[in-house]
Amino acid sequence: MPARHGSPSRHQWTPASRYNAGDRDLDAAAGHAQQMRTWRHNTHPLTPAAQAAILALLTDGTPLDAVCELTDVSHQAIHGRSAWDADWRTRLNAALMAGRDPRLRHGREETYRHARCRCPECREAHNALR
Ligand SMILES: [Zn+2]
Repeated sequence: MPARHGSPSRHQWTPASRYNAGDRDLDAAAGHAQQMRTWRHNTHPLTPAAQAAILALLTDGTPLDAVCELTDVSHQAIHGRSAWDADWRTRLNAALMAGRDPRLRHGREETYRHARCRCPECREAHNALR
């Protein structure tokens, strides 16, 4: 296919465009990774309304499993956002601490596993064993 008049030559493409066209050099791969990161963050299901609903339910003591069902947001979406959104992580942990069951002993793997508590202390105990 002859080059269209005025079309940019490949070396003028963005790294992500070159990746999509089949290039796999480090620059193209990095451009693709950045594009996917931006896409994930922009299309994330945690809208401000969903965030507010999740935090209110958790603060009221609703278990995280039930919160996920009620809001139709996955555990992965809730915790995945914590990996890159420090503000969300802080608000999420505060809600989990406020709403956790005071009758349980927190900071233990047993509480994470059997009571399915996902407060920061129980998650830390769980993650220490992995
Ligand atoms: Zn806990």
